[in-house]
Amino acid sequence: MSKPKQLPPGAVIGILGGGQLGRMLSVAASRLGYRCHVYEPGAAPAGDVAHRLTTAPYEDEAALRAFAASVDVVTYEFENVPAEALDLIESIVPIRPNRRALAVSQDRLAEKDFLSGLGLSVAPYAAVDSAEDLAAAMAGRARGILKTRRFGYDGKGQVRVAAGDDPAAAWAQVGAPSVLEGFVDFSAEISVIAARGQDGAVAVYDPGLNVHRDGILRTTTVPCGLPSRLIPEAVLLASRIVTALDYVGVMGVELFVTPQGLVVNEIAPRVHNSGHWTQAGCAVDQFEQHIRAVAGLPLGDGQRHADVVMENLIGDDIQRLPQLLAQPDTQIHLYGKAESRPGRKMGHVNRIRR
Ligand code: AMP
Repeated sequence: MSKPKQLPPGAVIGILGGGQLGRMLSVAASRLGYRCHVYEPGAAPAGDVAHRLTTAPYEDEAALRAFAASVDVVTYEFENVPAEALDLIESIVPIRPNRRALAVSQDRLAEKDFLSGLGLSVAPYAAVDSAEDLAAAMAGRARGILKTRRFGYDGKGQVRVAAGDDPAAAWAQVGAPSVLEGFVDFSAEISVIAARGQDGAVAVYDPGLNVHRDGILRTTTVPCGLPSRLIPEAVLLASRIVTALDYVGVMGVELFVTPQGLVVNEIAPRVHNSGHWTQAGCAVDQFEQHIRAVAGLPLGDGQRHADVVMENLIGDDIQRLPQLLAQPDTQIHLYGKAESRPGRKMGHVNRIRR
């Protein structure tokens, strides 16, 4: 492998997507002496802290061209950037993580084919493009989840289906190319945050235990409290995924824990909400790790030095800020969003457990 070319101080990292992940990436990049140029069509919490913000749609070729010409490398905090926009950017400047990782994670069917091709366990699945396909895929199955192939997040674009349900009604609810997944009877949901540098080195953070409510992540707890044999299994599995994709950057790998072992739910080719605990639990958190990787620096020390519970502040949770500010061993992160709405991620706290 060739020696990575390190970005010099003052170099500019382009970030597609200006949400809280882009904001925290920008902070990490500036700590390492870099500047960030954020590209975001809508409201951009990252724009408050980045060196530069472009507000334009992903269809605006002139804006994309100007953005790409102004940066040394492009990364992203959001995997659903249209392929045409990426083609244009990539004709001007490198994109890290690479396009293959994006293509695989943008499409649930491609993702499942890729993961099972690596020999990893995934939920049983079938492509569904019509009510008839759904009826066939449900045959002999008590329960399943119909998920759109593209643009799903936080449980959106999903319908639970039970034997006997009307396939036409379920299909009408998604109405787009989908995948039917067999229902996985899991005892817990965990995730691992893996990083791979340009030199091929891999670093994987300790797995975290995730609890969701209404399809949205509420808490991540480390250590995850699972039988110790599952931990190296999770770490090895994540390493295989990033290596197979020739990946550069941080990836979130969501897993179900079942009596038969670990089942991969999905991968996210970016920093991940379930990795926010690393800000309080490790010398080098997931945001710095990602910037190090895309900038060609060696990966940092991701060893966990504390037990942490990360809690998302969603919607009205933000009203608890006065109490949270008074709590010991609590690190607060707010995303600068003026208006709270139900389901909107306003910030998170990392509580250090001794
Ligand atoms: P996803 O958007 O695919 O991460 O799904 C959101 C949530 O739905 C997951 O965190 C699980 O709690 C649940 N879920 C997703 N897929 C399955 C499955 N195949 N079996 C059981 N539960 C699932």
